[in-house]
Amino acid sequence: MKFISTRGGSQVDSAAKAISKGLANDGGLFVPQTFPTVSLEDLNNLCKMDYAERACFVIHKFLEEYDYNDLLTACKNSYSKFEENDAAPLVKLDDKCFILELFHGPTLAFKDIALTLLPYLLRKGCDLCGVKEEVLILVATSGDTGKAALEGFKDAQGIKVMVFYPSEGVSDMQKLQMCTQEGGNVNVVAIKGNFDDCQTAVKKIFTDKNINDMLLKNNVVLSSANSMNFGRLVPQVSYYFSAYADLVASEEIKLGDKVNFVVPTGNFGNILAGYYAKQMGLPIDKLICASNSNNVLTEFFVSGTYDANREFFKTISPSMDILISSNLERLIFELSGRDTSLTKARMDELKTSGKYKISNNELKTLEKEFYANFTDEIDCKETIKDVFEEYGYVLDTHTSVAYSVAQDFIIQTNNQNPVVILSTASPYKFSHDVLSAINEKAPLDAFKCADKLFEITAMDIPKQILELKQKEKRFTKVIEKTQTVDVVLDFIK
Ligand SMILES: *Cc1c(COP(=O)(O)O)cnc(C)c1O
Repeated sequence: MKFISTRGGSQVDSAAKAISKGLANDGGLFVPQTFPTVSLEDLNNLCKMDYAERACFVIHKFLEEYDYNDLLTACKNSYSKFEENDAAPLVKLDDKCFILELFHGPTLAFKDIALTLLPYLLRKGCDLCGVKEEVLILVATSGDTGKAALEGFKDAQGIKVMVFYPSEGVSDMQKLQMCTQEGGNVNVVAIKGNFDDCQTAVKKIFTDKNINDMLLKNNVVLSSANSMNFGRLVPQVSYYFSAYADLVASEEIKLGDKVNFVVPTGNFGNILAGYYAKQMGLPIDKLICASNSNNVLTEFFVSGTYDANREFFKTISPSMDILISSNLERLIFELSGRDTSLTKARMDELKTSGKYKISNNELKTLEKEFYANFTDEIDCKETIKDVFEEYGYVLDTHTSVAYSVAQDFIIQTNNQNPVVILSTASPYKFSHDVLSAINEKAPLDAFKCADKLFEITAMDIPKQILELKQKEKRFTKVIEKTQTVDVVLDFIK
């Protein structure tokens, strides 16, 4: 399958190439030339499969040149790293409301679903296109991608990983997870700034010809593990299908019935994967885009204007503290009828003035497919408390934003279809804020918070958290955002 850049300046003839490059040369994002389709009969077959088999079926639709059985083995390997061998269990809260738990992987956030598999997709992709150089994965993270990428790629052959995170923009547990990372091929540095600063710095390195030439002289090529990379996006499409298959298999719905998905959104990768699933034929009614106080997306979906010129809030759902949602570019591209010059013009506008506007017709299409709303900090905490009291179920701070917006959606639209809420992180990653939401005085120490959360909820503390206590802090460097290039060049030498 061919992949084209959203900005029209680049095209590659295989998914392997799109994945190994990460970002298109013109600064755009790779998108499949057409969407493969999945029939109701296919969906019916998925019901009998386990998660790895479902994932392989969906992913291979895009990655045709990868050997099916080889991919299946890789999926089985990746998803055996998840608790109980199920990467995406569906939990029923009531007849119309389900939680898709995506956080049972090695780093306790949904990014593991893609990042346990990406090393295979990338290594194989490079082999298929004859890339001989060492691959340097540059990552900008709002907390969870960094750790998941480090863990996924640690000690991988011919690959190095360099992670930048905002020094004050991640939770204590997230910071500890990254600072204690093991592996001989990894580096982690904090940038004084927010996530958007990290993302801009990384994007700049990707598109700077001089830096890329310099790297090539050192036998290094760049790739990305952010959701800008198609290889990161495509494994995320699978769990929408898997959730649907589980609903059919457990007779909660009939084959062909429509379902709504609610997604706590930051960089727009997760929800875009849902949009792709819908394009492939999955019976999705509405995709619901849930934001925190950084509600740039809510405003966009309501008004048609994307305006990043606004105050940046540090919230208790830090992985959603983003003002420039990279993957929205892929949606804008589809909305415009795949008009690459219009997409490029809008992205240029975003770069120079921090905003752009879509047409009224495009806005109407958006409204048909999406519902968007946001939740403030107080509401986020109250939701955690309410859901715990009503169902005995503990939401993390990101999932709580989604849950709260799901309630707004049901009240405002009276939509009767079942709602699946994507749960993106374990509450133990954000113990302090989850505890204080449940009305308990939260200790300062992150581990004491975890202990207390266990006392109240009797939900087991994941071993990944317990193990952190003993680990040595290897990475403590904090830099100015102007120093990123030097850090990268230093690392590859
Ligand atoms: C990354 C992340 C999000 C946001 O996902 P996007 O794909 O960036 O929209 C939400 N919640 C958690 C816990 C995350 O780690």
